[in-house]
Amino acid sequence: MSPAPSPSTTAASNKTALMNSPLGKALSVFSALLLLAAIAASVMRLSLNGWGAMVWLASFTVMVLIRAPHAQRNRANEITGGRTDWVERLLLLAMFATMMALPLLQLATGVLGFADYALPAWATWLGALLQLPYLWLFWRSHTDLGRNWSPGLELRRTHELVTHGVYQRVRHPMYAAIWLAALTQPLLIHNAIAGLLVIPAFAAMWFIRVPHEEAMMRAEFGDSYDLYCERAGRLMPR
Ligand code: SAH
Repeated sequence: MSPAPSPSTTAASNKTALMNSPLGKALSVFSALLLLAAIAASVMRLSLNGWGAMVWLASFTVMVLIRAPHAQRNRANEITGGRTDWVERLLLLAMFATMMALPLLQLATGVLGFADYALPAWATWLGALLQLPYLWLFWRSHTDLGRNWSPGLELRRTHELVTHGVYQRVRHPMYAAIWLAALTQPLLIHNAIAGLLVIPAFAAMWFIRVPHEEAMMRAEFGDSYDLYCERAGRLMPR
């Protein structure tokens, strides 16, 4: 007799079924169109948004392009475990709101203009230059994790512990990249809601999710994960 599926496995396969259904596909097309419309509206407001916000928009577009093929391919993964509780969902929602929805809303419409602030030009330049290491690390970590990447906390059938490439000396290079993105967003988008709120949102993600993620990896890979932790630092190389 096969074992009963765990609640997280059932939730993950329900999600996969929804995403592959006609409704799921229609929703994906709708969100892609909405995204394109928001980007176009933001570009049209170029002179109002300022060049820092345009750098953010370019960097955001590259980030979406880096992630899209991995998201598409890994949709076929068979998920066997992980964590999909309300805390996880809330953290992902907060990241979606502060890293995508609110900045695009502000750039496309200017409705959050009451929360604008001014910064010296060097701060905007610093934010712009740091997009390069951010996007490089974001791309490398997706490439190195390959099929083992997922936006949520998930384990797939035949999940492998990746310890090569940028994972060789750092355990969370993708989160290091997202830290760079979060810390530079308020330097590029000079608005307390659309620019700054991502910092507390990602801080919550970092402090709440990382211990859960590491516990999940330890439960799955045991001693190999402990040995890996001895060699590799969390955010910085040892
Ligand atoms: N925390 C990592 C990965 C983020 S993506 C980073 O910042 O680079 C989250 C998923 O990656 C988790 O669900 C987990 O399944 C997977 N993951 C994290 N570290 C991994 C590793 N070293 N090898 C394989 N999978 C890993």
